[in-house]
Amino acid sequence: MTKTFAEKSRNTTFLGMFALMSATSILFHSCNQEKDKKESEKIISKNDPTAKIVPKIDDENVTSDKRVIYLTFDDGPNRGTENLLKILHKRNICATAFLVGKHAYGSKKQKEDLELLRQDQLVELANHSFTHAHNKYTDFYKNPMAVVQDFDAAKDSLKLYDKIARTPGRNIWRLNNITVTDLKSSTEAANSLKKAGYKVIGWDLEWKPSNKMALKGNHEAMLKKVDSIFFNDLEKTSRHLVFLTHDQYLTDTDSVNELDLFIEKLQKTNRFVFRKISEYPKINEVLN
Ligand SMILES: [Zn+2]
Repeated sequence: MTKTFAEKSRNTTFLGMFALMSATSILFHSCNQEKDKKESEKIISKNDPTAKIVPKIDDENVTSDKRVIYLTFDDGPNRGTENLLKILHKRNICATAFLVGKHAYGSKKQKEDLELLRQDQLVELANHSFTHAHNKYTDFYKNPMAVVQDFDAAKDSLKLYDKIARTPGRNIWRLNNITVTDLKSSTEAANSLKKAGYKVIGWDLEWKPSNKMALKGNHEAMLKKVDSIFFNDLEKTSRHLVFLTHDQYLTDTDSVNELDLFIEKLQKTNRFVFRKISEYPKINEVLN
């Protein structure tokens, strides 16, 4: 039990190493407000051809044996939002909800769930557009001005003045120090969002759905993926991982249970801290 992340032993995986450790200090490390200082030169993503070589940030306020996870949930308020909140409270863990403007007006229940999200101290709200591109992504990103207007509409109607945004259907990053575009045809729209002051954040790991719109696979497989991303240094910012899934996959008992177990086991390793997305390194810096 003496190896650390820095050693990245090939014989012992991170989660396995700490699986038996207790969760005594999790609450003290959750959702803190520490800021980041140090930078080190690295390539932001080895597998992304559009990635720029930029300074990869390190975080002196997270001790070297800790990793930071940002739990983010897209497309709410939606089916599953209430279950998500139950899990967050059961585990006393913070998260970020990337909201879709029109979903807040979809039904009385969705309107009520928006208010539950808004009042919840464990939850931070962020902008995931008003229309969700009507799920026609290629057309949507062809018109950069309309994309900005769509995010503005969500900002104004949901009162999301932080301007932290995630693009529908695209894993795009536009922070001062991270520029990633998964599909080149969205580049201009992404640049326009940045120019309009939006801090666009994608994700490092997604828990995808099955064809029944439930969480695909089990928590053990997801824990291995978390381990693998840190082990192979694939996160955009060293030691910080943005995790994505969707409220709407949390409607069946198995999915709720699997997400709950995933979080419980992350906490029990005592090697992770959890933060809201506004605490992601450098996200609040003035954009160029
Ligand atoms: Zn979405």
